[in-house]
Amino acid sequence: MKDDVLKTLIGEEELKERVRELGEQITRDYQGKNLLLVSVLKGSIAFMADLMRAIDLPLSIDFMAVSSYGAGVKTSGVVKIIKDLDIDLKGYDLLIVEDILDSGMTLSYIMEMLEAREPSSVKICTLLDKPERRQVSVAPAYVGFTVPDEFVIGYGLDYDEKYRNLPYIGVLKPEVYTK
Ligand code: 5GP
Ligand code: MG
Ligand code: MG
Repeated sequence: MKDDVLKTLIGEEELKERVRELGEQITRDYQGKNLLLVSVLKGSIAFMADLMRAIDLPLSIDFMAVSSYGAGVKTSGVVKIIKDLDIDLKGYDLLIVEDILDSGMTLSYIMEMLEAREPSSVKICTLLDKPERRQVSVAPAYVGFTVPDEFVIGYGLDYDEKYRNLPYIGVLKPEVYTK
């Protein structure tokens, strides 16, 4: 698996440190609120698992699954709900936990859908942001790292459902895509 990685973009220690900082910031900002972390499967699972333990507040978690990319590396623009949330959102302060904000299509769709359910508030926390690629305007409240326009894998992010278990964020060798 590691032979397929061209380079490391964000190492394990750097990820750990940044997640700790985000957790502290969220802990300060959500004092006295009714925090619900909403993880968008599957890409955000590693980030979600680490981030929730870095937040020193009572909180709830829930999961939703959407599809936007399939097996390829380009956005289809179509967002399909595969698994919806279990929790009724009324009275909750939602923080959507995402792996990466790219075109913005997925998150703008999710935001609109969740806002319609009348939670107390909705904000976005994304581990990675690729602002160069934005097609619709989405403003995340928390960003872990801004990354260049390269297809990244690891720490939850996949290529064709593989590489999610890499403990760091990396870039694949071009030959992997053409195999
Ligand atoms: P958007 O709708 O913002 O274009 O795309 C969001 C989703 O596309 C992300 O949650 C992620 O699943 C996928 N995606 C976008 N860029 C990348 C990337 O560089 N690497 C991987 N593995 N997935 C990406
Ligand atoms: Mg995602
Ligand atoms: Mg994917």
